[in-house]
Amino acid sequence: MRHRDPLKRKNDFKEVSLGLTEKQADKEAARCLQCKKPHCVSGCPVEVDIPKFISFVKEKDYLGGLKKIREYNMLPAICGRVCPQETQCQGYCILGKKKRPVSIGALERFVADYEATVGRPELPEVNPPNGHKVAVVGSGPAGLTVAADLAKLGYDVTVFEALHEAGGVLTYGIPEFRLPKKIIQREADFVKSLGVKILVNHVIGRTLTVEELFADGFRALFIGVGAGSPKYMGIPGENLNNVYFASEFLTRVNLMKAHKFPAYDTPVKKASQVAVVGAGNVAMDSARTALRLGAKKVYIVYRRTEREMPSRHEEVENAKEEGVEFMFLSNPKEIVGDENGYVKALRCDKMVMCEPDESGRRKPECSGEEFTLDVDQVIMAIGQTSNPILIRSILGLKLWGEGYIVSDKDGRTNLPGMFAGGDITTGAATVISAMGAGKRAARSIDDYIMGRTETTPKTPEPALTS
Ligand SMILES: Cc1cc2nc3c(=O)[nH]c(=O)nc-3n(C[C@H](O)[C@H](O)[C@H](O)COP(=O)(O)OP(=O)(O)OC[C@H]3O[C@@H](n4cnc5c(N)ncnc54)[C@H](O)[C@@H]3O)c2cc1C
Ligand code: SF4
Repeated sequence: MRHRDPLKRKNDFKEVSLGLTEKQADKEAARCLQCKKPHCVSGCPVEVDIPKFISFVKEKDYLGGLKKIREYNMLPAICGRVCPQETQCQGYCILGKKKRPVSIGALERFVADYEATVGRPELPEVNPPNGHKVAVVGSGPAGLTVAADLAKLGYDVTVFEALHEAGGVLTYGIPEFRLPKKIIQREADFVKSLGVKILVNHVIGRTLTVEELFADGFRALFIGVGAGSPKYMGIPGENLNNVYFASEFLTRVNLMKAHKFPAYDTPVKKASQVAVVGAGNVAMDSARTALRLGAKKVYIVYRRTEREMPSRHEEVENAKEEGVEFMFLSNPKEIVGDENGYVKALRCDKMVMCEPDESGRRKPECSGEEFTLDVDQVIMAIGQTSNPILIRSILGLKLWGEGYIVSDKDGRTNLPGMFAGGDITTGAATVISAMGAGKRAARSIDDYIMGRTETTPKTPEPALTS
């Protein structure tokens, strides 16, 4: 896949990756062996018929390929950009055993982007209205998927979104240079074109309660509120000025356009030397955003080694090319402030990796040495947790861990008519796993309303954590 020049792109928010040309897409599709037992499909959480969609690309029927993907996945332009394909479909591709796997994600993105160049999307078949209303709380990938699948079955679906724009993390978390807002808008418009209503600025649990929704005639409720609350390390100095939690930092820029201050009235403190703590996608996005805001030096501070980094491989490479410096085996122990309460340094322990424990996992341990980084901003990107606003308002809802909802594999909670999926059931995970949960929940909501299952679900098993 072609990328923009790192020296130019690190100064702006335009998309970094340019996608495949038609010639490249044809060549890439031709590499697919059309396996009879395609391993790639078993690596896809929503089981897209990958060989079939690639066979359309081989025939140059790009819209046919897209239609095939949409039978399984309503957000192909998004998944083609942000899915961790190297550990999912591509990680299972048979060609990967000896050489490079087929670039399935790049082909998915290609057909989705091709459609935008030729006009309006072709709508799938939508059943006639069945007269039943379903409420979906949260417009992230889980919420949008459940809404689209139920709308296709003929349900009257309303999505309630707390923020002023739809899309969840796709909109407020993932930066424009990785996932342009117009792509999210296009996918959200597609979902709306199936008849789904999206009401923004509605915080369920405050603006409206769950009881009010049921009283208003909604037969079932899907909770897809994600896990967007901050997690801190609990080290001294986290309350200093210029320490940000990654989601807040990214939301200020992505959703509130702080990088265009004062044209937009949300500010973000610009810094010269920035330490980002963590090594997942959120950390990479924060580091590359800080660079684009004008920081001269940006460090990723991570307590393990490069091998254990959880972020997408492509984003790590992009960050390196743009000049982000990686401090591995480094664990922050204190954020040091100046006399005015502003960050001036980050003290870290130097770590070593121990021998694997019984589970086979290697853990980092302090080596006894420490070092100090001179920085004037610290961004904490060590994970998120559940937001309690809605959860606390629902009496009797069974929870696990730090306030995540217990649901079975089909999204059923312990309360009748109430379903859940995505990050709020698993903890922070991926776009496609949230979509997979949305798909399964849509089937089970349909079964519930049509009376194909008992109305009071059995106590569900806790969902798997990410
Ligand atoms: C910065 C960042 C980068 C990421 N990068 C990647 C990546 O490259 N690839 C990948 O696969 N995954 C990535 N992820 C993870 C992925 O985005 C999430 O796993 C996924 O978005 C979860 O989807 P969801 O639908 O469960 O929740 P979310 O996307 O979090 O959406 C939940 C929505 O619910 C709304 N909401 C919350 N409470 C209420 C309420 N009470 N009433 C109404 N609405 C409410 C929220 O405002 C939000 O819009 C990233 C995450 C972050 C934070
Ligand atoms: S495993 Fe690879 S080669 Fe086989 S069908 Fe899937 S993408 Fe094609």
